[in-house]
Amino acid sequence: MKHKGLLIVVSGFSGAGKGTLMKALVARYDNYALSVSMTTRAPREGEVDGVSYFFVDKDTFEKTIEKDGLIEYARYVDNYYGTPKAWVEEQMAAGKDVILEIEIQGALKVKEKFPDALLMFVMPPSAQELRRRLVGRGTETEEIIDSRMQRALQEAQGIENYDYVVINDKLDDCVEQMHQIITAVHQSPDCRIDFINQLREELNALVKGEE
Ligand code: 5GP
Repeated sequence: MKHKGLLIVVSGFSGAGKGTLMKALVARYDNYALSVSMTTRAPREGEVDGVSYFFVDKDTFEKTIEKDGLIEYARYVDNYYGTPKAWVEEQMAAGKDVILEIEIQGALKVKEKFPDALLMFVMPPSAQELRRRLVGRGTETEEIIDSRMQRALQEAQGIENYDYVVINDKLDDCVEQMHQIITAVHQSPDCRIDFINQLREELNALVKGEE
């Protein structure tokens, strides 16, 4: 029986290590597909267009919004970020679990549109560790680091809206924990509805046969 894939939303403060986690998860298991977002922010060193993001200008982004080409979008620290719709829908129809690594406003919009989506929030072990990771990345100015810490403080207010929280202390453990959560959600009645209906029919047929 073919299953439709899950829509999985992963958020977490900038610097919590989401990017590394998602890469490790996708590398370790076959069934995950990582969505590539569209953004108006400039590429960081080493980022590749079409792999890290689709880097576009503001005009292109706004035209994509008008054409209803995005599942959701948000403004984050002066830039637009959004999830292209067509690819995500194709992958889910093919049975892949699609992971969106997006911030909290976008996550809540996804939950509204797709109530079955699984929302996970990645947290650093401590606030100090978060700042250390942001500074250690070496790609951001002091000013951007400060605005990302401010943003983390705001986002921390919305964590209760997520289904699960995972703490990224040791990368490998965290990847495993996320995989286990996703595996468990696949066993929910919503995900197993085709199997449930089939078994109900079989039961019916058997019971009738015995009457
Ligand atoms: P960064 O600039 O560090 O790559 O990303 C900044 C924030 O934007 C991160 O929290 C990231 O998860 C989020 N983000 C990336 N892509 C999307 C998207 O398509 N939609 C939304 N809403 N947020 C996104």
